[in-house]
Amino acid sequence: QESSEISLRDIDRLANNSFPPCMRHLFEKLREDHHLKHGGRMQLSLFLKGVGLKLEDALTFWKAEFSQKVGTERFDKEYAYSIRHNYGKEGKRTDYTPYSCQKIISSTPGVGDHHGCPYRHFSEENLRAALTKMGVGGHAMDDIMQKVQTRHYQLACTLTFEAVHGISCDTGVNHPNQYFIESRKALEL
Ligand code: SF4
Repeated sequence: QESSEISLRDIDRLANNSFPPCMRHLFEKLREDHHLKHGGRMQLSLFLKGVGLKLEDALTFWKAEFSQKVGTERFDKEYAYSIRHNYGKEGKRTDYTPYSCQKIISSTPGVGDHHGCPYRHFSEENLRAALTKMGVGGHAMDDIMQKVQTRHYQLACTLTFEAVHGISCDTGVNHPNQYFIESRKALEL
């Protein structure tokens, strides 16, 4: 399922309203640290491609952050390539596919990494804090934490979607880009 193009102007609002927890976390860390390690860059960049951020805008977006940390020259030399690569513009010109929940959940982020799935990879304390920031509380929070304890991470994410949007998500969450598309549909109703 294709989503329409998104513009850089809207990206912070979209991140806040419609990104799933895994992508919100990467987005926030990138804005905060002006840097993401390889795993995080891959996970977020392919997601952004999937939600409809054009290559040109993606380069502007990543450059604005990274150049604050490493300078524009190093960005152009070391990082622009991999963004272009993700869009199929370099190397074998494969058009890489955004990661599914399954792939993200089974990844193994190390120290200093911010990729992965918060339900699977965050401490309980950090997960609760992230969900609270999304406006989740009360019974919904308890239900979500119970799903996490039984290792049903995608169900926990589905319950989060339902709590945040106030509608049911019958298909369940199986892909961050699907979460985004369902969210846009729900909010544009
Ligand atoms: Fe992201 Fe999927 Fe985890 Fe939700 S369940 S936070 S969409 S990886």
